[in-house]
Amino acid sequence: MDDDSRKFVERPMLGGHSNTLNIIPGHVTLLAECRSCGHRRELDRELLNAYAHTATLGQIEARLRCACGEKNTRLMTGYWVSAPPAGNNS
Ligand SMILES: [Zn+2]
Repeated sequence: MDDDSRKFVERPMLGGHSNTLNIIPGHVTLLAECRSCGHRRELDRELLNAYAHTATLGQIEARLRCACGEKNTRLMTGYWVSAPPAGNNS
């Protein structure tokens, strides 16, 4: 789902990709961006918690595969901000 009304703001964690998933606050968004095609997708935190609770971000990043088939993904931590309303306030 593409939603252009949101903008992702990257906020790297202290310790970066050596952090394990379980110490990253639940409100932090994990966004994967493919270096090859630029495709972005938000990771399902609940799914990750279930399967990779103690994995580091680096380990998770290394396992991500893009829809284009490339395993060349950058994992980012941050949050979404809403763009100013453009007459479509829902
Ligand atoms: Zn890709």
